[in-house]
Amino acid sequence: MSPVGIFGGTFDPIHFGHLRTAFELLHALRLAEVRLVPAGNPPHRGIPLCDARHRLDMVRAAVADQPGLVVDDREVRREGPSYTVLTLRELRDEAPGRPICLLLGMDAFLGLPQWHEWRSVFDLAHVVVAHRPGWTAPDTGTLGELLAARGTQRVEDLHQSVAGRIHVRPVTQLEISSTDLRDLIVAGQDPRYLLPDAVRALIRDTGCYHPRATR
Ligand code: ATP
Repeated sequence: MSPVGIFGGTFDPIHFGHLRTAFELLHALRLAEVRLVPAGNPPHRGIPLCDARHRLDMVRAAVADQPGLVVDDREVRREGPSYTVLTLRELRDEAPGRPICLLLGMDAFLGLPQWHEWRSVFDLAHVVVAHRPGWTAPDTGTLGELLAARGTQRVEDLHQSVAGRIHVRPVTQLEISSTDLRDLIVAGQDPRYLLPDAVRALIRDTGCYHPRATR
């Protein structure tokens, strides 16, 4: 069974940095699919500017024409903080024998020790870390030790066991962040060519980043 990739995020809004990473990892790791999982209530940050329904709609629009990239809305439907470990447990129960690859940017990986029940992640999934501009892999401390103990450069290792390995993978570097995009949109500038046209149209039509928007 090929692994399924899980790519969580606030996606406030989704952009080409997310999408290119998901697309490249889908092929490079020979994943069955990559599920994009928008967080309903992201626990480690402030309240998203755009509400969960609109963020979900943007993710759906972004991947609508791409086989292999699918949207999983369970964290938006679930009450309470969107802890990744809860999502991974549900997925593990649904498919006990299937490898799961949790896909993270390097910035997200460096924040992993702050996550709820973070050590359990390795019982449930492999962790695949995509290089992100401006960030380097740790070689000391808790994460450095974890990388030394669990790291692998072999894609086969992600297929041959269901969880527990760490794979660091270079992807095309696109220096785009949702924070910069929000600032740009709120300032009245056009986000064109930083995110899909379908997402740009939704932002324009819903006014979801307009300070006085009626949601
Ligand atoms: P914000 O600026 O609001 O923090 P973000 O652009 O980092 O948002 P998130 O939704 O928080 O986006 O990120 C979801 C996942 O996507 C994380 O694992 C993050 O590391 C990764 N990611 C975000 N932007 C990029 C990018 N440009 N290239 C590769 N990975 C990215």
